[in-house]
Order: sequence, then structure tokens, then C-alpha cells
Amino acid sequence: MNANLTVDRPTFVTHLECSLTGERYEADQLHNLSAAGKPLLVCYDLPSIRAFLPRAMVEARATDLWRWRELLPVRRTENIVSLGEIETPLAPIPRSSGSPNVLVKDEGRLPTGSFKARGLVMAVAMAKELGVTRIAMPTNGNAGAALAAYASRAGIEAIILCPDDTPEVNVREIALQGGRVYRVNGLIDECGAIVARGAAEGRWFDFSTLKEPYRIEGKKTMGLELAAQSGWRLPKAIFYPTGGGTGLIGMWKAFDEMEQLGWIGYERPKMFAVQASGCAPIVRAFEAGMEHAERWEDAHTVAAGIRVPKAIGDFLILRAVRESGGKALAVGDPAILQAVDDCAKKDGLLLCPEGGATLAAYRQALAEGLVNEEDDVVLFNCATGLKYPMPRAGKKLDKNKRVALDQL
Ligand SMILES: *Cc1c(COP(=O)(O)O)cnc(C)c1O
Repeated sequence: MNANLTVDRPTFVTHLECSLTGERYEADQLHNLSAAGKPLLVCYDLPSIRAFLPRAMVEARATDLWRWRELLPVRRTENIVSLGEIETPLAPIPRSSGSPNVLVKDEGRLPTGSFKARGLVMAVAMAKELGVTRIAMPTNGNAGAALAAYASRAGIEAIILCPDDTPEVNVREIALQGGRVYRVNGLIDECGAIVARGAAEGRWFDFSTLKEPYRIEGKKTMGLELAAQSGWRLPKAIFYPTGGGTGLIGMWKAFDEMEQLGWIGYERPKMFAVQASGCAPIVRAFEAGMEHAERWEDAHTVAAGIRVPKAIGDFLILRAVRESGGKALAVGDPAILQAVDDCAKKDGLLLCPEGGATLAAYRQALAEGLVNEEDDVVLFNCATGLKYPMPRAGKKLDKNKRVALDQL
């Protein structure tokens, strides 16, 4: 058993606060959004963590997600249902990126094959801790799969609504892992509206992105991990495929917390929020200088995980990108598919389309002079490429005829 989960450690959550107004909310109670209708953020007693947990103590621990226990919200270890949330590797892709300094953080190695496991392992542990017995969630696929897995393990019912064109493998894995899954003839926010109605009627707890406070804390570990993996130096730039933006918001929070702990300095990576040009509400708001993003109509892209027409944390994404000196970038489906193909053929790493979008955006940023080849850059591949439709292959050979070997 994982050493980080066999030792009970002190916890340091003080309260929650509204990400817009700063209004204070009690910890250890069930919450969705703040009174202002915005996401809640978890606050910790950072001075006490600083005194209790020197960086070297973290370094001495096993390198999975639970080494960050003091910076995470779960009070009682017994509420954690783990499927083995490992530290994900940083893989160079020198040939397809054209630079030895570009690394892919390959989140496809996590349980259920995507980084949604980070958020959901945390949110489900907190739901268990706070006595939730039934959860409902809208999903584009990967979040539903992670929820189904952890909820089944925790003995919590999960009702999962996805757009009707969600990749087949996602729908099936959700069902196989014990989730009650329904295809809806609409997009993720329209699935979310059905979930919200049921929650208002008291039928279940609403687990939509950022509508409960703890998925951000799980996703935050990407930022913590990145620092620890790189000798507590952050890269020059991060390219993040942005749907609801949980990971980008979470990493930004992690950097701030680590600075307050004295683990890193004040330097920050440029944060590039990557969207598909068929669904780019954050890019449009960024370019227009807006603080919030309007809903994107007729959203379409091969990168299902970032097909999010309206993000409730839009202002948090935009704020982080602007503060970092980064940019929101849109890339077309042909560039995404080309990037997936190049990375697979030249570097042997199978990206998901959302991961392909980050490589396409890196190429665009390079061409626009937003980054250069000497910069150390991290691209997020948020799911295994194996979950997505692939081009047909497999020419046939007839063993009963003489095979022309020189033509193979
Ligand atoms: C969910 C998802 C994203 C978007 O993540 P957010 O943090 O919600 O913006 C990107 N890629 C994949 C593969 C996903 O499943």
C-alpha cells in the first residue's frame, strides 16, 4: 500500500472563499457555488504548513499525488479511494516540436486514462467525507469516466450526462465502471442544465466543473508536481488545453501557494490557454479585453474535451493568462490532427486531440514570436490517445499465397 496513504497527516484547511468577492465560507460543509454564483476556492493555513513541511520533507516522500497531502483538503485518509494516482512523466518530443526544450506532461498515464482522475479522486473523497450518497455530472467523456470509477469504489451513486456524440469508448467505460450514463442531444452546458435542475430538487449533489470546490485542488497537483519534477524551477511557458479551465486555474493557485511556502520564487510561466477554433470563447474574450466570456454558439471540434461553450471560471482563466503574460490561442482541427500525427510518427508519443492542440498552439506561438526555441516549455497531454478514434490501418496479407516480402 502507498506509504503516503498509510500515515495520517495533519490537515490545514482554514476556510473557503468566493473567487469573485472573497466572501468567506466554512470548511467541512457541503458547498456548490458562492452566493455570487461563482466558484469557491479552498484556503489553507500556509504559515503553519511552511513551519511543518519543509520542501525536503516532500522530496523524501514517494512521488504520487498524495505526497502533497498537507496542501490538499481531505481531512481523514480513510475517505480517500485511490486507484494509484502516479506522478506523470515529462516526455521530450524533439522531432515533432523542433526543440529539445519542449516536454509533454503525459497525463494519459493516470487511472482512467486522463487527468480528470486528479480532480475526481479529490472531489469524491470530499463527497464521501461530507456524507454525499448520490452525484450527478455533465461530461464530455473523461470526467464522467473518472467520476464513475472513484464513485463506484467509494460506494456513491453516479448519474452522468454527456452530449450524444461523446466518443463511444467514454460512454462505455462510464457504464462499465458503474456510472448511470445518458446521451443528451445537446452540448455539455445543456447537460449541465439538467443536472442543475435535479440538484435544485434535492435529487443529487451537482459535480459540474468548478461547481464544487475540490476538483481544483486535485488538478492543482499538476502545478506542484511540475515544480518538484523540474528542481523547483517552473518552465518558461505552459500550453494548456482549456475547456472548463480547472487545471489552469488550479496550477495558478498552486504556484501562489508554493511561493507563500517559500518553495519557489515569484517567477511564473507564461500560461497559454489553448482552445479549438470551433469553440474558442476564452480566446474571443481575451482578444476583446473582456473579463468574462460569452457562450460560443454551434461549438464543434475533434477535441471533445475542450468543447466547452461556456465556462463558469472564465474570469479566473482570463485573469491567470493575463497576469502571466501569456495568451489565449485558438487552433483549427486540421492543425490539431496534423500535430497528433507528427508527434506519433516522429516521436512515438500518441497524444489525445486536446494534447495535439497544445502542440499546434506551440507551433503557432513560435511562428508569432510569443516563445522561442530556447525556452523550456511544457505541453499538457491530458488523456491517453488510445481513447480516441484513430485513422483506419491494416492492409491484409494472404498466408496462402507467396507474400512479396520486398514490398512490405
Ligand atoms: C477535460 C479535458 C480537458 C480540459 O480540462 P479543463 O481543466 O476542464 O479545462 C482537456 N483535455 C482533455 C483530454 C480533457 O478530458
